[in-house]
Amino acid sequence: MAERIINIKDFTVLLLEDSIENNILPEATSADIWIVNHKSAWHVLRFLKKIIRSSDPRIYLKPVFLQREFKSFYKFNREYNLKQLCDGYIENLDISKNIIGIQHIFDFISELKKRSGSLYENNNEHFCRIAYYCYSRQKDIKIFESHDSLTGYSYPRLEAHFSDRNEAYLKGRRILREAHKNNFLKREYVDTTHICKKCNSGFLIYRESCPSCGGHDLQVRSLIHHFRCAYVGPEDEFRKENHLSCPKCSAQLRNLAVDYDKPGKIFYCKNEKCGKEFQKPLIAVHCVNCSTEQMPYELKIEKVYQYELTSEAINEIINIKSY
Ligand SMILES: [Zn+2]
Ligand SMILES: [Zn+2]
Ligand SMILES: [Zn+2]
Repeated sequence: MAERIINIKDFTVLLLEDSIENNILPEATSADIWIVNHKSAWHVLRFLKKIIRSSDPRIYLKPVFLQREFKSFYKFNREYNLKQLCDGYIENLDISKNIIGIQHIFDFISELKKRSGSLYENNNEHFCRIAYYCYSRQKDIKIFESHDSLTGYSYPRLEAHFSDRNEAYLKGRRILREAHKNNFLKREYVDTTHICKKCNSGFLIYRESCPSCGGHDLQVRSLIHHFRCAYVGPEDEFRKENHLSCPKCSAQLRNLAVDYDKPGKIFYCKNEKCGKEFQKPLIAVHCVNCSTEQMPYELKIEKVYQYELTSEAINEIINIKSY
């Protein structure tokens, strides 16, 4: 496979197009910096995940940039959050603004190498890898909206370690919860979500339903209250050709708020076996992911947070005295 290596400033830079096309990771030592120059968002996603899942810190910590010139090709795949799976965009192969960050990453990787055996020691611990990544980038673990994720919110880099979105959700959230419990992460509240009681999906449809039969094909009508005779009934009982007249006392209704008002709405269940009318429908929730029907109070409530490494994490996991 032909690799395209160029020199920028004092660095060697590998252009990844062929590697991405063939989905083959280059050698860990090939070039200091890797740059994505491929138009297909899906191919880029697949390849960035491969980098993240590599067990070699020289690969998963490698500085990897997207080119702003290709950004328009990715615009229909925002849910991939490609930018969050690497070191972001550069323009015209200009890395001058990123040099301090890149140097910090190289220093960190070479410190890791010096720690005897530790280079591969904790490789299977996802949190350790995430901590290395965050520390080497001075980044927090932020949450992003994604309609590709199970709940609607995802931690793109953490979840990229897992192959399906269910596993990504369950394992990803567990890693964060445990790290927080062990004081390796501090967290900041972002949002409160309601998710399916059975499958944790956030893709839910809410609609009014009949309190008697649970059906949700309902008809809504306005109620009219005639002041003079106190009769209350649905608007269609009052409707006579081009005016409103009271079905109880036959008087014509002329002015809203003067001789009548509309105190609310009434719902009719269109299920032929039911046909009940009622003023307060229930709200029922349908899960698009697993088709479970449930009531709002049955949904799981989950708070979502963004996280930051604590000094305990830096001392115990990063633990590089020279920093
Ligand atoms: Zn009904
Ligand atoms: Zn009346
Ligand atoms: Zn569900």
